Amino acid sequence: MSPRQSSRKSEGSDKVGTICRALRRAIIEQALEPGAKLPEDALGERFGVSRTIARHALGQLAAEGLVELRRNRIAVVATPSWQEARDAFDIRIELERLVVRQLAGRLSKNQIATLKTHVDAEDAARNGPDAVSIRLATEFHILLAQMTNSPILVRYVSEVAYRCCLTLSMFSRPHSSECAINEHRQLIAALAAGDEAKVMALMHTHLDSVASRALVTPAPPRGRDLLDILAPYADEEDNEPAAKPAKSARVRTAAE
Ligand SMILES: [Zn+2]
Repeated sequence: MSPRQSSRKSEGSDKVGTICRALRRAIIEQALEPGAKLPEDALGERFGVSRTIARHALGQLAAEGLVELRRNRIAVVATPSWQEARDAFDIRIELERLVVRQLAGRLSKNQIATLKTHVDAEDAARNGPDAVSIRLATEFHILLAQMTNSPILVRYVSEVAYRCCLTLSMFSRPHSSECAINEHRQLIAALAAGDEAKVMALMHTHLDSVASRALVTPAPPRGRDLLDILAPYADEEDNEPAAKPAKSARVRTAAE
């Protein structure tokens, strides 16, 4: 590949990255609502890029679960189900336990200071719009992942955290979904103290409580719905001994 081609290629991936960052932010702050259409041509025009570049960006966001690609290549902001949201949180908990296990007792003073500064910013944004608080809280978790210096962990944590962030904006009641700021401070203290078991337990409780606060009203599982619907019919059958014998017996009865 000539230098010129290679620079053109990296220019393209820079632009894909720029669109992804802008769209990700607009989606998790709910400027773009779940189900909103994202036409390639409009995006291309807005960001001054070709449709091909816009399509690459949409593909990347689809891989992260923030965008759904429908038939005829129509892209929309994803609308995950309640169960998908809960599943994403369960995966996130395990990944982030791994993050803090790796970081416990290994952070430099500068890194601790960076984390504290971030939590101060979360504190300052507390009375602002919910969506901004949710984004800042999510970025705290991504910051932790980045401190592991493990690219694969950063990638997985970012993807699942943004996915959770989208579902928080969708399902949570107002002021219910932010990470508790004091819990972020406790995490930092336990990391600095190097208490691996404690910080893993704290992370588990912290994310589990975010999920429970936010996802407080699950849609009833379809299976239970069906059972509820069928309950009166089943009761009726139980009270009718003639219904117990095999089908052929009922047919005979009907024929008599
Ligand atoms: Zn948090």
